[in-house]
Amino acid sequence: MQSVTVLGATGSIGVSTLDVIARHPHNYRVFALSGHSQLELLASQARQFLPDFLVVGDERSADELRAQLADSDFAGEILFGLDGLCQVASDPRVDAVMAAIVGAAGLAPTLAAVEAGKRVLLANKEALVMAGPLFMRAVAASGAVLLPIDSEHNAIFQSLPSHYTAAAYSEPERGRVAAEQGVAKLILTASGGPFRQWQLAEMASVTPAQAVAHPNWSMGAKISVDSATLMNKGLELIEASYLFALPAESIDVVVHPQSVIHSLVQYCDGSVLAQLGNPDMRTPIAHALAWPQRIDSGVAPLDLVALARMDFAAPDLQRFPALSLARQAAAAGGAAPAVLNAANEVAVAAFLAGRIGFLQIAQLVAAVLENCQPREPTSLEAVQRCDHQARRCADQWLVNTANEER
Ligand code: NDP
Ligand code: MG
Repeated sequence: MQSVTVLGATGSIGVSTLDVIARHPHNYRVFALSGHSQLELLASQARQFLPDFLVVGDERSADELRAQLADSDFAGEILFGLDGLCQVASDPRVDAVMAAIVGAAGLAPTLAAVEAGKRVLLANKEALVMAGPLFMRAVAASGAVLLPIDSEHNAIFQSLPSHYTAAAYSEPERGRVAAEQGVAKLILTASGGPFRQWQLAEMASVTPAQAVAHPNWSMGAKISVDSATLMNKGLELIEASYLFALPAESIDVVVHPQSVIHSLVQYCDGSVLAQLGNPDMRTPIAHALAWPQRIDSGVAPLDLVALARMDFAAPDLQRFPALSLARQAAAAGGAAPAVLNAANEVAVAAFLAGRIGFLQIAQLVAAVLENCQPREPTSLEAVQRCDHQARRCADQWLVNTANEER
């Protein structure tokens, strides 16, 4: 029986995680759940799973949730804020932590789980992009078991030799483990998002509703916009370079609109291994929960005959410059990935709020990458300072651009 904390339980990944857990009541029990704005959903999850702890953003939300659960069987404690999140991520009674808070807000609790040596199921890619070297050093030092949930990275994890990742996680010298084990290249697949076949001129007037309507995957709003700009693939490139200790040049991106091949590993003898499946996050979630065993995820088996064909194309960097910006940040290293991530979070929020156009997301990120170049952060506090500095720079860009357009 594993005791599991789900950070970001009310989100798309959180809900899928609880769906898998509910299928295996004898293998997993829920220790803690966290939510942010969706208190009613969190309350209904608390009634179903009866966790020991719930965590919300602030004291007012905690009071409101307590009132909602007054006449229920939930007898646990309700915590709030970052301290509450870090507490349930590192509690000695917890075996596994699903890190599924979106964005920079997930960094500190995810790192707390890593430092406590938990089995960490990492969905929150932004945490790794912001603090990659720090994060991977913490994994090596604590002996945490880091299992990627992002479908591409989970596919690569499954397609690598089983001893690869353990070595790579403690290997600061990028590329050495890969060379020793005959890994030539990682190939990340990208669906291409909803605007894969749109002209640049049409993309200028994309609405938030169009951008969050992903053709293959059902996901939260932020990652859906990232998928539409291909920034998601850029973040994943950086994520893969840290997870698998490879330079970004050894990681290719190929557009594969059916999203059935989740990613591939190319070996020096010409072999290419891949993981395939229907696009449903319950597969990587079940894989990571049970690893090295396998459990039923509820996902329908892949029907190759019904699928009939698979297509591949190179990404169009003219229409999707975000991918190049991420490569640039990966090559620059230091604080650049944290700056890229912060600028992108501000840009996506501004786009969703109707403040900027779709194509301005990458323009904002490019401007911030150029103008904001803090020194390489070597502590969590320094990463957070880089993040704040880049957000201020991005906010200034928004103000200047609004003034110019007036
Ligand atoms: P959602 O937006 O659906 O969910 C985000 C979760 O984080 C919710 O539980 C939300 O609470 C909580 N949250 C939001 N802001 C804060 C905050 N400031 N403090 C604490 N908690 C907060 O996102 P997804 O589930 O789609 O994605 C989660 C992470 O997983 C992201 O990092 C994403 O990149 C990654 N990922 C997601 C995939 C997917 O298929 N969805 C695939 C691969 C990776 P509430 O809803 O109550 O406000
Ligand atoms: Mg992904």
